Amino acid sequence: MSLIVQKFGGTSVGSVERIKAVADIVIETRKQGHQVVAVLSAMAGETDRLVELAGQAAKEPDSRQLDVLLATGEQVTIALLSMVLQEKKYQAVSYTGGQVHILTDNVHNKARIVDIEAMRVKKDLAARKVVVIAGFQGIDEQGNITTLGRGGTDTTAVAMAVALNADECRIYTDVDGVFTADPRIVSEAKRMDRISYEEMLEMASSGSKVLQTRAVEFANKYKVPLRVLSSFKEGPGTLITEEDESMEQALISGIAHNRDEAKLTLISVPDKPGIAAAILSPIANADINVDMIVQNVGVDNTTDFTFTVHRNDFNKALALLKKTARDLGAKEVTGDDRIVKISVVGVGMRSHAGIATKMFVALADEGINIQMISTSEIKISVVIAEKYLELGVRTLHSTFGLEGENDVVDDAAG
Ligand code: ADP
Ligand code: ASP
Ligand code: MG
Repeated sequence: MSLIVQKFGGTSVGSVERIKAVADIVIETRKQGHQVVAVLSAMAGETDRLVELAGQAAKEPDSRQLDVLLATGEQVTIALLSMVLQEKKYQAVSYTGGQVHILTDNVHNKARIVDIEAMRVKKDLAARKVVVIAGFQGIDEQGNITTLGRGGTDTTAVAMAVALNADECRIYTDVDGVFTADPRIVSEAKRMDRISYEEMLEMASSGSKVLQTRAVEFANKYKVPLRVLSSFKEGPGTLITEEDESMEQALISGIAHNRDEAKLTLISVPDKPGIAAAILSPIANADINVDMIVQNVGVDNTTDFTFTVHRNDFNKALALLKKTARDLGAKEVTGDDRIVKISVVGVGMRSHAGIATKMFVALADEGINIQMISTSEIKISVVIAEKYLELGVRTLHSTFGLEGENDVVDDAAG
């Protein structure tokens, strides 16, 4: 008997009606002869609502208490789905992350899974139960509730699939696969039948929130077949798999964008060894991740140093940087949290020159100024002003000839 892990995201479990539709998908999979583990998100908007409540309670809510709060969202949906399944005469059991020993490190709000003790789940499956697990949450060695970062239910699902040696991990969401760009921005975006782990990793880490980056990392590491599909309508979805020759022929697979970025600049800082370390160490010590970095060759033995962080960390990073600027004798600190990052991703880039130039020319033709650039072997990213986000993504999508037909965003998804 094969085992399928099915993950249902927020819109897919956004109401009891939707949860009933999810139960039908689970039951259909059971009828096809598979064992099923369902991993659920909180109802759409619920985690945001909880974050907002925390913000009303405290200016900077303590990260441990925040996790206790945020983990409640998923507890609601797992209980409801199990009830619906039981009502339809299927044995089902709901578990929080802690109850199935999803052990994480102790970094609250962005914990990483270190181990899963799968015994309990295996016993339930053997007893013909559908196991329904709360996504996004775990427990640290001290028994504290932790969460895995926004979108973390994807990662719970893939990690569960690895721990149970599942045959496939299916990520059900509100679009029917992975597209050449976010279909909510580019209506001509095309669903891909397949995409390589590596490209999906670049898309996800560049902001394509259809999958959490960590989930793709896990799937790649353990070669879990991963499929993204819609819970609203049937279809083959997109298979995330190992790269093959046909994929290599596509020059660019997709355009990703990220609205979560903010930019900080230290102006006229003395140019000497150790400057980058001195600027970025306090940022790293505050658990703030830095994305892009640009250091200019300066005049008068000084340099300008620019980097980007998550928008949520902008104020904290700015305060730290102001202190660093005083310590180092820099002239000025500036910040901008109205920027976005757009990336073109494709394994074909490895063997083709001129992609970057084509990208820069296309943006220039639209009068879009590029503020920062970074590249990897299969990705080119630029930072631009937020107001050009949509124009930028659409321009690049058509520049690289990615258009197709689209009837994909389900109206019910909102
Ligand atoms: P869920 O709640 O099911 O986890 P998410 O909102 O996290 O759903 O992810 C699905 C959304 O990802 C889609 O509604 C879509 O707007 C967005 N998205 C961004 N980039 C892409 C892409 N390249 N392909 C498909 N969806 C994308
Ligand atoms: N509910 C969490 C979030 O909104 C986790 C998830 O949906 O994946 O980020
Ligand atoms: Mg998601």
